[in-house]
Amino acid sequence: MPQAWAEVDLDAYRENVRTLAALAPGAQLMAVVKANAYGHGLAPVARAAREAGADWLGVATLDEALALRATGDEGPLLCWLAAPGADFAAAARHDVEVTASSAEQLGEILAASQVPRIQLKVDTGLGRNGAFGDQWSDLVAAAARATADGVRLTGVWSHLACGDEPDHPANDAQEARFREAVDELRAAGLEPGLRHLANSAALMTRPSAHFDLVRAGIATYGLPPDPAMPHDVPLTPVMSLRARLAAVKRVPAGQGVSYGYRHVTDRETTLGLVPIGYGEGVHRAATGRAHAWFDGHRVPVVGTICMDQMVVDLGDLPAGRGDVVTLFGPGDAGEPTAVEWAEASGTIAYEVVTGLGGRIQLTHTADPGRSR
Ligand SMILES: *Cc1c(COP(=O)(O)O)cnc(C)c1O
Repeated sequence: MPQAWAEVDLDAYRENVRTLAALAPGAQLMAVVKANAYGHGLAPVARAAREAGADWLGVATLDEALALRATGDEGPLLCWLAAPGADFAAAARHDVEVTASSAEQLGEILAASQVPRIQLKVDTGLGRNGAFGDQWSDLVAAAARATADGVRLTGVWSHLACGDEPDHPANDAQEARFREAVDELRAAGLEPGLRHLANSAALMTRPSAHFDLVRAGIATYGLPPDPAMPHDVPLTPVMSLRARLAAVKRVPAGQGVSYGYRHVTDRETTLGLVPIGYGEGVHRAATGRAHAWFDGHRVPVVGTICMDQMVVDLGDLPAGRGDVVTLFGPGDAGEPTAVEWAEASGTIAYEVVTGLGGRIQLTHTADPGRSR
């Protein structure tokens, strides 16, 4: 048994994928598994996504796509972020679809390989990747030349800036710009293939943005894009973070706890030592704000969160070395959630789960691929 582990519930993940796919019945679903499946483990999560019926998988970089292929995955797969020098020949060999975000990048792709299929990205207002303004016309023209040479255009897509604020005017503006960009493509004689714009937030709140495919990341892991975003989609958080207490001790009132004595006990109490710290990606900024879950009770994390460890105040609860403490979980029993840790850390749940690492072991439950 590991001393600190992130437990990934693949049944919950598959259920989330099915729930989300049902929200956009007219569109295909891409499960986004970039950044080691948001910290949940690339190979088992990707397999679970396919089992749950995800039509596509999506990752950011080509290296991630090739790593996924190395696990044996063979289904439709798109990647979208490449600095010059990316191995586009390998992409073609492994049947990974790549995205061109400019005419220049399309040139790099074509020079590196006779790619059979390509998708185009338009910047409709995020101000990040994708062809912006006049660059789109250049990319369309370059794509028209490439398709005349036998390259197949399979998709055109963009990404929202404020999807998690459904009433933000940028959503309408980006959607309108996306439709224009598709029209421009068609006017140049190109069939756009799959048109896609929606992330989790737009999938959950904005049917007009579903088009032919939706790209769901955070929601497949059971976490809301923003806790303030109104929605009624039943999702179950997939990851629980747990550890076994490395030490338990009774201390008197007035005892300083951890570096800098930011916490001093106000009564005699039991302290439990949790072997997880910022070396595992838990934010030190959550010091003095976060809670954990022990034996059916919420208990405060007290004192400075250190590199390897943190301390929980167990009060008068009976506790022994090796007992399991949960830092976050689905929340249905009353335990803190990743969203709550995000709030305590001054960040978003995406970062809480994706940032975990260090000495934490990832474990997967209900993984049929392993039990076979
Ligand atoms: C990460 C990412 C997504 C998924 O976003 P979520 O908010 O996690 O659903 C979709 N599309 C692109 C291009 C991304 O980079």
